[in-house]
Amino acid sequence: MRTIFLGAPGTGKGTQASVLAKKFSIPQISTGDILRKAVKDGTELGKKAKIIMESGGLVSDDIIIGLVEERFVQPDCGKGYILDGFPRTIAQAESLDDMLIDTAPIEAVIYFDVNEEEIVKRLTSRRTCGQCGYNYNMITDPPPTNNKCRICSGEVIQRDDDKESTVRNRLVVYKEKTEPLKAYYEKQNKLRVIDGNRDVKKIEAELVEIYNKLAN
Ligand code: AMP
Repeated sequence: MRTIFLGAPGTGKGTQASVLAKKFSIPQISTGDILRKAVKDGTELGKKAKIIMESGGLVSDDIIIGLVEERFVQPDCGKGYILDGFPRTIAQAESLDDMLIDTAPIEAVIYFDVNEEEIVKRLTSRRTCGQCGYNYNMITDPPPTNNKCRICSGEVIQRDDDKESTVRNRLVVYKEKTEPLKAYYEKQNKLRVIDGNRDVKKIEAELVEIYNKLAN
């Protein structure tokens, strides 16, 4: 079960990847989460990445490919994984194909299709626990009034890159650099488009069906 969750920021990839990964006991590999941890830990990588992430740009392909290579050698990747937020450029996708050439290729790429205004609304109303990473939504799932996470009591904040000006820039970058991956994986016959405008439970059910087929 080696899959990629592809789509613009705010399309629900991360939320669904986390649910599916738990259900099928495979890791969710989120390059965004790896980078956020490096920023929080104040590592050299984190210091470089912070400025880029706050502007809504992309961290360099070399750095990202190195991070994924390191992650792939961990033993929990043996049964498969969900790649969430990687690849984001054609160069990253080509490197991924090269990395997997002697092992097992990606089986399916799930593209989350959501309209742009809905994305802006979702991202600007998103709030995130600074400690455990749980995502709240000011409209559909607001955090407790004291802003303490109901799971771990950490502080709930708005990610700098969820502020509206950065969100708009992330979408411009997405269209230019990441959207071409749709055609890349369509050519490989791996692309499955799902309607991400629907209720999360409906999307989850469709994904579980896809995964059950992959597992057999
Ligand atoms: P995400 O949580 O996936 O939206 O990622 C947050 C930010 O981390 C992005 O806006 C980028 O600045 C950076 N990032 C995450 N994944 C990648 C990637 N595959 N390539 C380049 N930059 C990335």
